[in-house]
Amino acid sequence: MIEFKNVKKVYPDGTKAIKDFSLKVNEGELVTLIGPSGCGKTTTMKMINRLIEPTAGNIYINEKNINDYNIHELRWNIGYVLQEIALFPHLTIEENIAVVPEMKRWKRKKIQERNKELLNMVGLDPSTYQRRMPNELSGGEQQRIGVIRALAADPDIILMDEPFSALDPISREQLQSDIRKLQKEIKKTIVFVTHDIDEAMALGDKVCLMKNGGIVQVDTPQQLILRP
Ligand code: ADP
Ligand code: ADP
Repeated sequence: MIEFKNVKKVYPDGTKAIKDFSLKVNEGELVTLIGPSGCGKTTTMKMINRLIEPTAGNIYINEKNINDYNIHELRWNIGYVLQEIALFPHLTIEENIAVVPEMKRWKRKKIQERNKELLNMVGLDPSTYQRRMPNELSGGEQQRIGVIRALAADPDIILMDEPFSALDPISREQLQSDIRKLQKEIKKTIVFVTHDIDEAMALGDKVCLMKNGGIVQVDTPQQLILRP
């Protein structure tokens, strides 16, 4: 569970990026953050794994203040998927997925099994894809690897910052349906940033509508439709 309590962020140049942000994301819930460019979505995400420090207020994960976690422990437990696909170009797909499990000193056999399981989960045949290099994959396939790499070491929380925005509509739909399936199977707590209202409504258990560093409304997609 992630909880923001009266969080504010003022950047050193005086920009008030987040004005008063309180939000609860329950365990196993997928919340989409939606709003125009510059409304504070990325700032909000980066505060969760302490890439950015709030100016005021507190953030809790499982009711413990994030400042009270060891920073590595905190980040290892959070998978982060970014818009720009950032696979390591000189590592095979298998090696890319294994990076965090290896840091966590998982056994070789467990890593290999996890690799296969994850590739199958997103419909990529391990025997074909494991040994390929990132540049031998399409954009959509690379982004799928980006998603499963974030899941590899089984983090409780997954942050996704416009992970599909660079993709063509078909790959995008495919990945949205992958995420919905993953969410059902693995019941992770996910915060998903998008500026696409259809994507926000299709994916979110709850949709958090942001504007100018604040929350306009948080509701289920159904309620948002009823009360526009
Ligand atoms: P979004 O992800 O919704 O596009 P951001 O969180 O990136 O929004 O940015 C929120 C506001 O904070 C914007 O006005 C942006 O220009 C500003 N901002 C982001 N990063 C910095 C920074 N490092 N220094 C100053 N202002 C920043
Ligand atoms: P910046 O100051 O531009 O945020 P960083 O070196 O902190 O640069 O991060 C570069 C990119 O990698 C950022 O987009 C950030 O979100 C991501 N990143 C850095 N460290 C981590 C981490 N521990 N977990 C997840 N993503 C990270």
